[in-house]
Amino acid sequence: MSQNNGDTLTARGPDLTSGPDLTSGPDLTSGPDLTSISKLKPTTCQPKPPKPENAITIGISAQVLFNMEKEQQGLEDYIKYQMEHEMQPFSPGPAFSFVKALEAVNTQLKELYPDSKELFDVVLMTNNHPYAGLRLIKTINHHQLFIERYCMTGGNSPIGYLKAFHTNLYLSSDPDKVREALKEGIAAAIMLTPEKITEVSNTQLRVAFDGDAVLFSDESERIYKSHKLKKFLEYEKEHENKPLGHGPLKGFLEALEKLQKKFYDKGQRKDCPIRTYLVTSRGAPSPAARALKTLYSWGLEIDEAHFLSGAPKGPVLEKIRPHIFFDDQMFHVEGALKIGTVACHVPCGISQEPAPK
Ligand SMILES: [Mg+2]
Repeated sequence: MSQNNGDTLTARGPDLTSGPDLTSGPDLTSGPDLTSISKLKPTTCQPKPPKPENAITIGISAQVLFNMEKEQQGLEDYIKYQMEHEMQPFSPGPAFSFVKALEAVNTQLKELYPDSKELFDVVLMTNNHPYAGLRLIKTINHHQLFIERYCMTGGNSPIGYLKAFHTNLYLSSDPDKVREALKEGIAAAIMLTPEKITEVSNTQLRVAFDGDAVLFSDESERIYKSHKLKKFLEYEKEHENKPLGHGPLKGFLEALEKLQKKFYDKGQRKDCPIRTYLVTSRGAPSPAARALKTLYSWGLEIDEAHFLSGAPKGPVLEKIRPHIFFDDQMFHVEGALKIGTVACHVPCGISQEPAPK
């Protein structure tokens, strides 16, 4: 559902009709034809986007939402190039289907709760110069996406703004920015692109999580890494009734469940448009039991739990066809990419540290 079809911009978008003073910036006047910009008229009576404090806010880097050219020449040439190609939309990137699924959930929520502001809200994050971002706005209109909020930081890191936007999840292809966001306590992951993205549901958002160092802390992973399997199994048996600590993505699962419950309250439990999956290397009995007991102690549910006891995750993910999969171990991320799943690396926990010699 887009409130921005065609060539219109919302009243909340940049005021392009009054126009920036282009004569004081880089010499852009001799380059692109700016008349197309002046044709963009703000519309009136636009519905307001969800309030950040009620919305589930997803900050997405433009580089993963679309396939964009990287800035190779100087900034001024790059801006000029982007403005000259303003009418050529970027093609969908790895986050595109995820954003469309968020939109599909919003549409269904609005049908059930016309006045509710508890919806997904996507903020497009880019460190592009705002003028270069004009092509992005056009691209979003072209693909009829519901994104109304943009954070164009002109070369600065967008991380400082994530808190201002009350971001529940930040996705980027830039490992440094993701690490910075995680340090700030924001759920974040590095999105990677499979060679050929597998087809996913248009009506149900599917999100798959690894357990340790993603939903849970890396407490048990540390035991496994330093003392191997036997000690890990003993440890899990001993601590089966002690909930694990919070992992970096726990808050995002919580946010998803908040919206799931709105569907449950209307009798849509089995056919809920949001479905969550735990896909973990843990196995039965104690490691699996501890994971489930931890979720229970947090008051959280997961729709499906797959305990693979160290087996590859690819075949299960192939069956689930999630829009997005989160794992802290590159081995599993790569396995997911191979079968066409959009996979995100969560650079957290002991697996990121070099193995002891
Ligand atoms: Mg893990």
